[in-house]
Amino acid sequence: MAAAFGTVFMPEMAISWFDGKSWSPAEMVPSDKLTLHPGAHVLHYASTCFEGLKAFRHEDGSVAIFRMDRNVARLAQSSRLLALPAIDEKQVTDMIIQTVKRFAADVPAPPGSLYIRPTHFGTEPAIGKAAAPSLSSCLYILVSPVGDYFAGGDTALRLLLEDDGMRCAPHMGMIKSGGNYASALRPTLEAKAAFKADQILFCPGGDVQETGAANFLLIDGNEIITKALDESFLHGVTRDSILTLARDLGMTVSERQLTVTELLERAAKPGCEAALSGTAAVLAPVGTLIHKGKEHPVGSGKPGATTLKLRKALNDIQWGKAEDKHGWLTRI
Ligand SMILES: *Cc1c(COP(=O)(O)O)cnc(C)c1O
Repeated sequence: MAAAFGTVFMPEMAISWFDGKSWSPAEMVPSDKLTLHPGAHVLHYASTCFEGLKAFRHEDGSVAIFRMDRNVARLAQSSRLLALPAIDEKQVTDMIIQTVKRFAADVPAPPGSLYIRPTHFGTEPAIGKAAAPSLSSCLYILVSPVGDYFAGGDTALRLLLEDDGMRCAPHMGMIKSGGNYASALRPTLEAKAAFKADQILFCPGGDVQETGAANFLLIDGNEIITKALDESFLHGVTRDSILTLARDLGMTVSERQLTVTELLERAAKPGCEAALSGTAAVLAPVGTLIHKGKEHPVGSGKPGATTLKLRKALNDIQWGKAEDKHGWLTRI
């Protein structure tokens, strides 16, 4: 059996430290250890954010990174919103390229890829700073070769609709930060145990938002409906890419509020589809919504044709099989 997603790491990573004044020149160091003071800010007050993006091997042997500018900009935004030291976007871009180049020969062929995990966190040894930022920090680029996300077959996911609890505090939604996943974990485990749900779809106050680590899209005929961008949820690069490709294909994209009531009404129609979007899976079909103890199949309850078509359209660009019209790839 293949290793679980994200459990195999390349032996080196690019790293840089901020000492309160400047970033150290990036270095390649072993990726299996890191020395931190036990009082480091991140270990107590969760001053940490990360990114997830991928590099792909093309048939001509070249390697291309997908929408790196978006992920670097989001890391800068997460760092800003967490009051971490400002990152140097040019340096982080160079560190990503340096790390991917170092392991270019090990980038798996499609449907595999090299998953890239830039990580930034506060290192100041100061446990009295519960309400003050870390003045020093560390940023590294960890990379992990990953296989086919759908190796076990394309099963449609089961989502529990949660209309009371939240994934995270609303002002933290657009930050890709560790604490948000810790916050969503216990309810997600409870949903698994009670309903065999794969994920919770958080719908605070009846407003359909997102799951623990992916955005939600409803596909009704020629229309895609998904929540409009606001502070409360993570602005996925995959979400943006899929919506762009859907517009290219002549679909209607509605970024607006979607209520649980409307979702369940539409999902009951034959031909309706739903999907989760994120870098790891691209687009994962949703087959069942569970609400107040009742199961609602989405359309046929099976992976939808439009979902698979959109996923293929995006994979084809990533894999170098379709023209990169929007300039999403950085060849290294
Ligand atoms: C990372 C993430 C997503 C998906 O973002 P992509 O840029 O598409 O990978 C969606 N929601 C949450 C909470 C996430 O952490």
